[in-house]
Amino acid sequence: MARILLVEDDPALARGVSAMLRSKNYTVDVAEYGEDALEAALGEPYALIALDLGLPDIDGIEVLRRLRRSGSKIPVLVLSARDAVEDRVTGLDHGADDYMLKPFDPSEMEARIRALLRRSAGEASPLVTIGDLVIDPARATATLGGTVLALRRREWAVLERLAARPGKLVSKERLAAEIFGYDEPVAPNAVEVYVARLRRKLEPDGPEIRTVRGLGYLIDPA
Ligand code: CA
Repeated sequence: MARILLVEDDPALARGVSAMLRSKNYTVDVAEYGEDALEAALGEPYALIALDLGLPDIDGIEVLRRLRRSGSKIPVLVLSARDAVEDRVTGLDHGADDYMLKPFDPSEMEARIRALLRRSAGEASPLVTIGDLVIDPARATATLGGTVLALRRREWAVLERLAARPGKLVSKERLAAEIFGYDEPVAPNAVEVYVARLRRKLEPDGPEIRTVRGLGYLIDPA
């Protein structure tokens, strides 16, 4: 559903947490270094960052500080092994949205992530209506003429991205970045496949998804 950047230098923990999140249908990228995390966070459309504080290069707090300084409002869940109230306060002062102490229970982490995503979606994205199609980004659901559309994770990702700017071109690269993590192999025609499936689900009453040849797609606002 949502794409998450996990910043964690402990390989076992990174593997465990990303497996848990993938089992819950999130797309997960892992960064081991703070500098890599910043580059990824500023360049890719993540919905949330789970951020370890103790990293091999720059500190997680520094990552957070630079991220916020660059204007990013992405929800950040800080993961820390340091049991210090001071750390927690520092993290929240620098714009963390929530804080978890290691070791943590994976299901609790998932619940916190869900809450953060719900909060940010609710703040950022009210309902989108395009003709008979109503999209609820906060709940990750879409209805057509009042009937809930059964959308797979990547079909939803395509629809959400296109519907965020009706009538505006969204490049194929942008859609690919939205629906795949960068360690997932992407077939050359993968975006076309998801768009085709989505079109079938929107027919006959939903808005049209137009192909702008060689460039990308847009959803017809009319
Ligand atoms: Ca660490």
